[in-house]
This record gives sequence, structure tokens and C-alpha cells, in this order.
Amino acid sequence: MWFFYNLRLLSYNPAHRVCLRLKTPMSKATSHPQERPPVVVVMGHVDHGKSTLLDFIRKSNVVAGEAGGITQHVAAYEVEHKSKRITFIDTPGHAAFSAIRARGANVADIAILVVAADDGVKAQTLEALEQIRESGIPFVVAINKIDKPNADLSRTQGMLLEKGVYLEKLGGDISWAPISAKVGTGVDELLDLILIVSEFQDYKADASVPASGYVIEAHRDQKRGIAATLIITEGTLESGMAVVAGGAIAPVRIMENHLGKQIKSATFSTPISLVGFDELPAVGEQFKTYKNKKEAEAARQVTRTEAPKAVAEAREEGGEKYYMSVIVRADAAGSLEAILSEIARLGDEHTKITIVQSGIGNISESDMKTALAGSQTAVVIGFNVGIDGIAETIGNQQKVRVEKFNIIYKLTEFLEELLQSTRPKRTVEEIVGKARVLKVFSSRKVEHVVGGTVFEGFLEKKGDIRVIRRNVTTIGEAKLINMQTNKINVDRVEKGNEFGTQIEASFEIAEGDILECFRRTTV
Ligand code: GDP
Repeated sequence: MWFFYNLRLLSYNPAHRVCLRLKTPMSKATSHPQERPPVVVVMGHVDHGKSTLLDFIRKSNVVAGEAGGITQHVAAYEVEHKSKRITFIDTPGHAAFSAIRARGANVADIAILVVAADDGVKAQTLEALEQIRESGIPFVVAINKIDKPNADLSRTQGMLLEKGVYLEKLGGDISWAPISAKVGTGVDELLDLILIVSEFQDYKADASVPASGYVIEAHRDQKRGIAATLIITEGTLESGMAVVAGGAIAPVRIMENHLGKQIKSATFSTPISLVGFDELPAVGEQFKTYKNKKEAEAARQVTRTEAPKAVAEAREEGGEKYYMSVIVRADAAGSLEAILSEIARLGDEHTKITIVQSGIGNISESDMKTALAGSQTAVVIGFNVGIDGIAETIGNQQKVRVEKFNIIYKLTEFLEELLQSTRPKRTVEEIVGKARVLKVFSSRKVEHVVGGTVFEGFLEKKGDIRVIRRNVTTIGEAKLINMQTNKINVDRVEKGNEFGTQIEASFEIAEGDILECFRRTTV
């Protein structure tokens, strides 16, 4: 399927572009589709340089004289490169991306997969790749940190090829650029590649219709109320109109661009911050625009997709699963969604984290009460938030564990470690080998001497065994006292070898029995 992304070749083929246009359903006669800037998301393994790249692009490409004023909560920004606009989603990491995607939104048009040349393809590189492929959007690869002395370009390329990422000039057609996000080497070329993809994909939108698009971030501001970052994918948003996102409505009155500047109108691919929602819209929610608030209210969807709220504590009845209760407070809906979706992935078939309460804002008294209400005191996690005085007092008195973070992966690492260290001990059994009894030499009370052959794995001296008859019935458990092959004492007999052994068992052993040797450990 990757032939589809043979960007360089196809984008310059005029015939091909005509085909593409014809495939796109033409809009009504009154509409005027125009070129729409691409929306780009940066993904890849932690520490491979996603934030550094986003920072570098933001600093060097934001329209001159305006840099520096970017407000913290507009989780996207726009740059200009070769007189073309590009919108970047400024929340690196697949966590945020998947939180948005979990709502069915495909807000990004193009992904940049960042891979550090000194580290190569890692677990999260593969996760990112999987998500990009699932979402079906084109991507380009940025091989980063090429300034580092231990950067190994060809090894990194090789690792990518192994994972089916067939790079251009190396037998494949996936565009890539060697870069240093720190110094800026190759970043221009990377942006060129983005423009080529964009030109080939031929994104179009119509400025003459009311705006629609996606919520990519939302938060409650103590002074200003509820604000959300929207990315417009179609149409124009103008003062006086009203936006509906799920069950939330906002009049278009206080609208800012990514530099925090008040604006009166905005059009596609432009990220904007809109203040004045009557409730918190969910990240990834699609928004639509209406002429005024009255029309918006009439159109307000009946099925409201709400922001995450408290869920009741779940405990598997009679199950062996270990649940750790956690309460999460975050500064913004976007980060909260990302955190919750990351937490959902922690644990394994025996352990799981249960979110007993979550929300936006400081850690509160209610969180502490909830933490103490269950049969197990919940751990309280804050992400970029503080703790109310009274909550802190309760926490100290009642010994509630409160931890604050400002990096998502640090938070998930902490929870994973805590989960593993607090989980109850479990006995696990590993079968190391199997043998068949060929002959019983002697049988006295609890001591039996038999000969046999190992047909799977190995048998070990002092090993625990299970004696199985007719391949199905377990007669009982026993112990191998000692073992011999060719009359020599040995500690272990491997598959394919015959042996003699003295077994301690309170039952008779018969020819044809299977001896299953196992190890039991507590984890
Ligand atoms: P992220 O977790 O993917 O967002 O990674 P960061 O952008 O936070 O980068 C992780 C570390 O790598 C930081 O210490 C950066 O300064 C460093 N780094 C990022 N890009 C480069 C690069 O091109 N060259 C060098 N030498 N260091 C880099």
C-alpha cells in the first residue's frame, strides 16, 4: 500500500493530479474550494526530540516579530514555510494523538515520525507507526540528532526498513530527512517534504461556509471560564457566530490566534482559542458553527459526549485481579484524556488501575474524601496542577499518597512501578520439561527408581514433578532426588536423552507415565 506515498514522483505528475481532483466530490456550484494548509502531528519515542523539533519550528518559522507570544494553552501553532502555511499540533506524543483519535477524529493530515539516530527504532516508535498506519494518514520520517557523535544513520535506516518503513533512495518511497532538531540542520528540508505531501494530497476547503473542525484541547480558566483550542478544517469562523461541540456551546466573541492575539475571523487549518463555552467540550469532539447562539442552541446535540467524569470503583467479584485505585487531576482536558488513555494501558492480565475519579483543576477536598472512601486508599495524581490547602491537610493526616507530575511518561512510569510493587504475591509455575517413564526398576514406600527418556525441555535434579497417567490424569506431585545418565550422576537431562532417577513419591509410578518437571516461583 505504500506505493501510494511515492510523493515526489507523483506530485509532479500533472496527469495524476487531475485524477485526484476528479476523485474528490466537487462541492456545490456556489462554493469555492481553495488550497487548505496541512495539519501536522509529530510522533515518536520519548526523548527522540519531538518537543525540540516543535520548538525549533515554532521559533524559526512563526511570522517574524510575533514569536514569543504564544499562549500556553493553544495546543497548536501555525508557521509559514516558502510562503505556504503549515499547522502543527503542539502536543507531541502519540498519547495525545490517540486520545483525539479515540473519539474518531482524524485531525492531523500528515504525521512526522521522529526517530533519534543515536537510539534507533524503539517501542514507542512502533506504537506511533501502528497508529499512523491505522489512521491512514501519510507520514514522513525525521531521523533526528544527527549532530550527535554516536548518531548512526544507516543503522537507524536499517531498523526502519526492518519494520516495513521503506525509505526513499533506499528502495522505498517514504520521504525522510536527516535532521538535528537542536541545531536546526535539515528542518527546512523536512518542511519541504511536508509541503510536497500536502501538494500531492491536495487538501481543499471552502471559506464561504460556516466553520467546522475539531476540539484539540479544552480547559477551565479561573478568570476567563472555559476555553478550547479548535482546529478549523472547513469554512470560516466569524465574530457573532456560535460554536457547538458535543453538548457545549460558545459564542464567537473572545477568539484568539495562537499568538494570543484577538481576532475577528479565522479560517481553515488555523488553530484558535475560543473562550466562553458553557461546559467543557471533549477533546477530539467535532464542532460546527451556527449563525448565532439561538440557532446553535436549537442544534445542540441531544447525545452529549461528556468530558471524563468519575467512574465507580470496579472490583472483579471473586476474581484474582489486583486493582489499584487512582484519582487523576489535570490542568486541561487534552492532557487528562491523554493520561487516562495511557493509564488504561498499564498493568497486565492480573493487575489493573482503576480510575475512581478524574477531572480538571487542583487536587481538592473531594478527591481526598473519595481517595479514603474505598476499601483501599486511592493514590492521588496531579498533572500540572496544585493542591488545595484543605486537601493537603487531609492528605497529610490520613496518609493519602499524593504525587504531582508535569511529564506524562514520568507519571505512567511511576504508576506502573507502584502497581508492580504493591501487587500481592502470586505463585507462577513454569514447566521446564517432560519425560516418559520407560521402566520401573524398584518401588519402596516413598522411593521409586525408574528409567525414562526426556522428550521436551529438560528434567533437573531436585526438581518438582507431576506424574501424569495416560496423558490426562495427574496422579500426584513428586520430587526427583537424583538423576543419572550412563550411570553418571547429573544435574540435568536434556531432551532426547535417557536417564535413571530416584523419585520421592507417595504413590506408585508406572511404565508409560509422564513426568512433568516444573518450577514454582512467587512473583
Ligand atoms: P521528546 O520526548 O521526543 O519530546 O524529546 P525532547 O525534545 O524533549 O528531547 C529529548 C532530549 O534530546 C533533550 O535533552 C533534547 O535537548 C535532546 N535533543 C533533541 N533533539 C536533539 C538533536 O537534534 N540533537 C541533540 N544533540 N540533542 C537533541
